[in-house]
Amino acid sequence: MKPAAFEYAVPTTVAEAVALLASRNGEAKPISGGQSLMPVLNFRLAAPTLLVDLRHLPDLDRIVVEAGGTRLGAKVRWRDIEKSRELAAGQPLLCAAIAHVAHYQIRNRGTVGGSLAHADPAAEMPGLAVALDARLRIIGAKGERMVEAGEFFTGPLSTVLEPDELILEVLLPAWPASRRWGFEEFARRRGDFALAGAAVWFDTDAAGCAQNAHVGIIGASDRPRRLPAAEMALNGKALDAATIAAAVAAARAALDPMNDIHASADYRRALAGTMVERALKAALAR
Ligand SMILES: Cc1cc2nc3c(=O)[nH]c(=O)nc-3n(C[C@H](O)[C@H](O)[C@H](O)COP(=O)(O)OP(=O)(O)OC[C@H]3O[C@@H](n4cnc5c(N)ncnc54)[C@H](O)[C@@H]3O)c2cc1C
Repeated sequence: MKPAAFEYAVPTTVAEAVALLASRNGEAKPISGGQSLMPVLNFRLAAPTLLVDLRHLPDLDRIVVEAGGTRLGAKVRWRDIEKSRELAAGQPLLCAAIAHVAHYQIRNRGTVGGSLAHADPAAEMPGLAVALDARLRIIGAKGERMVEAGEFFTGPLSTVLEPDELILEVLLPAWPASRRWGFEEFARRRGDFALAGAAVWFDTDAAGCAQNAHVGIIGASDRPRRLPAAEMALNGKALDAATIAAAVAAARAALDPMNDIHASADYRRALAGTMVERALKAALAR
């Protein structure tokens, strides 16, 4: 398949890019790495009349790890995350999870902003943004706004982004070195989208009990989400076998996945629980 005809622009400023996006009444689309958008265009699932290529926009490929938190520009690629020593030390859960994204050709082009805007419920970056309490800095014709990742995704391939809006960067809270974490996913082949995955983290109090537990799920819901019931099963508890079993049961009970060609709903629900269990055990062993 080939895409429908489109015009193509390569702006050199964010203001110019936003103006171009706003000029077509929803018929213009940004393109970043093209790894999700080009298949969509080739199958004619979308037919924008203008593609606004972000490649020459300055400063959006920056990774900044500071005491106050981490900033990932929208054009940061999976490969950039993989290579960053600052991120390996400052955001270890992010790095471990991004290692599961696709194959190296795609990893050389696919970007943080593109993945968030595409909003695949099984993709790692949207799930991480939600599990890590990220905020997204967004700009459009009406100006800038910040959106909590937990409120950004509205369904499969759907977000709160307006057609004239661009993601500029993602802000992640600081990550204490003592934090316990685990990431586990299951895909049929290495690099495939996960059938289900879990990102978990928690801090520990003086008695060694979990505090501030976060349990995030990908692939088993219509959007990436946290599971508050599973988090409640962990908070204030020592992570023994009974606590982990209670969190897994709460996770499974909270999920209502769809049947699809890759897996039944029951299989995904069971698998998601198993991913939570493995991620918690990995967090304890780490
Ligand atoms: C074979 C294959 C396997 C893959 N496996 C995985 C996987 O295992 N896990 C995974 O997470 N992903 C996977 N991907 C997707 C890949 O990670 C994509 O790169 C990513 O989802 C989109 O990033 P992109 O930069 O290529 O975005 P693009 O394809 O350029 O754009 C995607 C969407 O985002 C919009 N967009 C892009 N940038 C912005 C921005 N800054 N602001 C607002 N909107 C923007 C575009 O208009 C478009 O709607 C796979 C892709 C392929 C082709």
